[in-house]
Amino acid sequence: MLVARSLPLVPKPIVRRVAWRYIAGTTLDDAVGIVHHLARRGATATIDALGEFVENAKQAEQETQQAIATLDAIAANNLPAYLSVKLTSIGLSLDHRLAEQNLRYILDRARLLGLFVRLDMENSPYTTPTLELYRTMRESGYDNIGVVIQAYLYRSEHDVRQLAPYQADIRLCKGIYNEDPSLAIKDREGIRANYRALLRLIVELGMSVRIATHDDVLIADAEQLIAERQLERDRYEFQMLLGVREQKRDELIRCGYPVRIYVPYGEDWYGYSLRRLKENPQVAGHVFRALFRYDGFSRR
Ligand SMILES: Cc1cc2nc3c(=O)[nH]c(=O)nc-3n(C[C@H](O)[C@H](O)[C@H](O)COP(=O)(O)OP(=O)(O)OC[C@H]3O[C@@H](n4cnc5c(N)ncnc54)[C@H](O)[C@@H]3O)c2cc1C
Repeated sequence: MLVARSLPLVPKPIVRRVAWRYIAGTTLDDAVGIVHHLARRGATATIDALGEFVENAKQAEQETQQAIATLDAIAANNLPAYLSVKLTSIGLSLDHRLAEQNLRYILDRARLLGLFVRLDMENSPYTTPTLELYRTMRESGYDNIGVVIQAYLYRSEHDVRQLAPYQADIRLCKGIYNEDPSLAIKDREGIRANYRALLRLIVELGMSVRIATHDDVLIADAEQLIAERQLERDRYEFQMLLGVREQKRDELIRCGYPVRIYVPYGEDWYGYSLRRLKENPQVAGHVFRALFRYDGFSRR
C-alpha cells in the first residue's frame, strides 16, 4: 500500500519499464499490431487513445482527431475492435457543449464506418454529465454508443434502472477511482455483492452486459448466470485489460466465451500506468525489481 502511494515518486523510466505490459505502445500502429495479435488468440478489442483532463479546447480537438484516426485505422485494417473514449479527454472538464460537439464528430465517423464507441466512466464529478451525454446522443439517434457502470458507487442501481428505457449496452466494472466513502462502497466483499446484484439487474432489464473484471469470484458467478439464463452470445462478453491475467483470458476463450481486451496506446501512458500499477498486488515486487535493474539506481 505504501509502495502504491509512493509510486508517483518513482522515476518515469522505471514506471515505463514495469507498466509497458499494460500499454500497446505510443503509436496507433502499435495498437493495430496488438489487436491483430489478440485476434489470432481469439479475442476482440476496444482501443483507447490515452489522454484525459485536457487543459484547453485545442487539446480537446487534438484528442478528438486522435479518436477519429483510431476509428479510421480500425476500419482500414478491418480489425475486430471498437473505440473507448474518456469524455474529459474531449473537453468535458472544460465545457459540456464542447464535449458534446466533439463526441458528435466521433460518433458520426464511427457510424459512417459501422463502428461502436464506448464512453469510459471516470471519477464521480463526471458520472452525471457522462450519463446525460449518453442519453442526449441516444435521443439524437446515435445507437452505436455504450456506457460503463461502476459497481462501487451507491448510485449505480438507480443509474442502471434509468438506462433501461434506452436498452443500453453496459460495461460493468468495479470502478478504479478513489471515491469518498459517502459515494462509494469501500470493502471488497461489498463491491462484489453489488457487482453481482447489478449484473442480474442489467440482465433482468433486458440489456446487454460486458463483464469487465479479472476477479475469479465474479467471473465464476457470471458464468453461472450465463448458463442459468441461457444468455445469447450477443447479450454479454467478458472484458479484460491488456497485460492482466492473460491465462484467465485464454481459458475463457477456450471455453467458448466472447472476450474483448481493452488496448490503450499513446504518449499519455503515464497516468493510466500508475492506476494499473496501484491495483496490481505484485506492484512492490515489480517496482523494486525494476529499480535494481535501472542503471541510475543500480547498486552495482
Ligand atoms: C475492460 C475493462 C474496462 C474498464 N473500464 C473502466 C472504466 O471505464 N471506469 C473505471 O472506473 N474502471 C474501469 N475498469 C477498471 C475496473 O473498475 C477495476 O478497477 C479493475 O478491473 C480491477 O478490478 P477487478 O474487477 O479486476 O478486480 P480486482 O479484485 O482488482 O482484481 C482481481 C484479480 O485480478 C488481478 N489483477 C487486477 N488488476 C491487475 C493489474 N493491474 N495487474 C496485475 N493483476 C491484476 C489480480 O490477481 C487480482 O487479484 C475497467 C476494467 C476492465 C477490465
